[in-house]
Amino acid sequence: MNEQTEQTAEQPHGQTPTTPPAATPPAVVIVGAGMAGVQTAVALREQGFTGPVILLGAEPHQPYDRPPLSKAVLLGKAEGAAFDVDFAGLDIDLRLGVEVTALRAADHALDTTSGPVAYGVLVLATGAEPLTLPGTEGVPGVHLLRTLDDAERLRPVLATAPEAVVVGAGWIGAEFATAAREAGCAVTVVEAADRVLAGALPAEVAAPMADWYAQAGARLITGARVAGIEAARDGAPGRVLLADGSALPAGAVVVGIGARPATGWLAGTGVARGSDGSVTADAHLLTSLPDVYAVGDCASFPSARYGARLLVHHWDNALQGPRTVAANILAALAGEPATVYDPVPYFWSEQFGRFVQYAGHHAGADTLLWRGDPADATWSVCWLRAGALVAVLAVGRPRDLAQGRKLIESGAAVDPAKVTDPSVPLKSTTL
Ligand code: FAD
Repeated sequence: MNEQTEQTAEQPHGQTPTTPPAATPPAVVIVGAGMAGVQTAVALREQGFTGPVILLGAEPHQPYDRPPLSKAVLLGKAEGAAFDVDFAGLDIDLRLGVEVTALRAADHALDTTSGPVAYGVLVLATGAEPLTLPGTEGVPGVHLLRTLDDAERLRPVLATAPEAVVVGAGWIGAEFATAAREAGCAVTVVEAADRVLAGALPAEVAAPMADWYAQAGARLITGARVAGIEAARDGAPGRVLLADGSALPAGAVVVGIGARPATGWLAGTGVARGSDGSVTADAHLLTSLPDVYAVGDCASFPSARYGARLLVHHWDNALQGPRTVAANILAALAGEPATVYDPVPYFWSEQFGRFVQYAGHHAGADTLLWRGDPADATWSVCWLRAGALVAVLAVGRPRDLAQGRKLIESGAAVDPAKVTDPSVPLKSTTL
């Protein structure tokens, strides 16, 4: 029997042999083309997903990275910060200038400014929006710093405004003040709390960091509430009015008082959110709706490592989370168990000539140990819980950060006496 005869014998007459069609993978639609959205699309391809990937972004710009906005882009040392990703080559259907306005879960569909989009699996990656000072929206000369457009609006202002006022002594406020001083502006930073970085660090750690402002020639006023902002008029500069009745001349005002997850459009859709506005994802980054994941600045997740739900507004979380989301989309399609997302959070900040890094998560009850003298150029702080390292802050000590991060991941018990000795490498402090 020849080959032809064999085939004819097994197939109905007149039909060519076919293999059973493989199930077509569902379309994965990602809302938000920032770091988390882009990385989700890339991770899906890297991990072998062959179905359609549609990436929807409200901004008109080619997707870009945010950290350079408050640093090189602001100072004109870099034109932009577009991601080096070949979307077409990866067969990612990138649709820019498309805002998603509603989610209709029952129909597995989204409404957008460019019409409806159907999804098989949905990933929410809408990031965060900066908080505004009530009553100051739209006042000329008042700026936020979140987007490329914001940074491009601020760049010429830095070159021309003799006096800038920054509202908020957080990470963004400190980085803007750094750039403004470098550009030669007089800078005053107004902070409502009694210290810098009040939401992130305890008073004893924040205290030496407040000194950096004066060393850089920036004025810092803590415990000061802004009562209003007057726009520049008739050649006179604008003014920031403080609650104590005083006023600060301001050629430009930058408001850096925090950010909130950009999830307002999800109201009434069945996607559960917390009081902080975050989509409350589970340990697999799945939301309260089936087939809907959430990642990056818009999502919080339960951390078994820290016994707390974490909302992380930092770059590394928008890089790591997408890998878990992609893996879990593929695992769900294959009927395999999902991966848990429980990272050691990490971020960095570049301020006043210093490289500040933090890994982990600490609480008020954790034991704080100094490594070095905060009056020196470099030092670190470690937090211990039940004898193990849970967080490290490193100023100009990247080795402490790298070794501390590994120690935190391992959960190994450490010797506090060795931890406080900056000459002992952190990796050599285990018991
Ligand atoms: P985003 O970057 O906010 O992206 C979300 C995207 O979704 C946006 O483009 C938005 O337009 C889009 N979107 C929102 N709603 C919709 C909708 N309904 N439809 C369609 N699209 C929508 N972290 C660090 O660790 N170190 C740093 O030094 C550092 N510097 C920073 C400097 C600045 C100026 C800023 C703003 C942030 C910085 N960060 C830093 C934080 C880091 O950049 C963020 O954590 C990260 O960008 C979060 O990525 P994301 O994709 O979750 O959100």
